[in-house]
Amino acid sequence: MDILIFVNFFLVFMIGASLCSWITYEFDNYEIDTSLRNKLFKRSKCDHCGEKLKWYNLFPVFSYLFQNGKSTCCNKQINFKYLALEGFAGVILLLSFSLNSIYLGIIALLVLALVIFDERYLEIPLWINIAMLVWVLNYHQNNSSFEMMQNNFMFALIVFAALLLLYFIFLKVKGYAGFGLGDAILIFSICLHLGLPLGIYAITLASLGLLVKILWVKRYKEQHAFGSWLGGSFLVITLYQEFYGFAGLASI
Ligand SMILES: [Zn+2]
Repeated sequence: MDILIFVNFFLVFMIGASLCSWITYEFDNYEIDTSLRNKLFKRSKCDHCGEKLKWYNLFPVFSYLFQNGKSTCCNKQINFKYLALEGFAGVILLLSFSLNSIYLGIIALLVLALVIFDERYLEIPLWINIAMLVWVLNYHQNNSSFEMMQNNFMFALIVFAALLLLYFIFLKVKGYAGFGLGDAILIFSICLHLGLPLGIYAITLASLGLLVKILWVKRYKEQHAFGSWLGGSFLVITLYQEFYGFAGLASI
């Protein structure tokens, strides 16, 4: 194999794994540590003795393998989830890269992060919403469909405004929020990306999914995550469109 291709593959894998490593830290410390400075620059610590990790402990996947799954400070077992999650994210990104659709790998990882955060904390972190919006803008820029996205803008804005109105009416009448503002921002991105009618399909699919889940688990009074269903539908439709949509268009 060409050495340059190998280096490229290795880098892509490491980017996926590092991204996942950061997300895992963020997930574990969400609500505990909310300082932005810490989120970005704080050095990771050993889970057992709290000692700051050295630079050679910080390579996702590889540090774990070379250290035989043991911490170098206190020689205790490092949680296997780090290896599994980082390896998984690295492979997803590498796979999408080798299929020439790294965009799909990135959005798949973002949606996975969205699902675990929303299911666990019942809110969508702002950074995920921003990342998804940036993804949508970049996607259309690079696929020369920017004009199409601009045409979707009005539709997305109207849906977003309607949701805001609904949000405040609900708050006024019931005294609590019916859904999160994060969901409204996510729906804006989805409508901007998919346009009509696919955007409506995605929202309908997500609502049906959540409805089935609520009926299934029979918890009618509790709060349920909606963002994870939205993200899931968004991903499914985007993947479908990517693999069948354009092929379908070409055959017309
Ligand atoms: Zn330690």
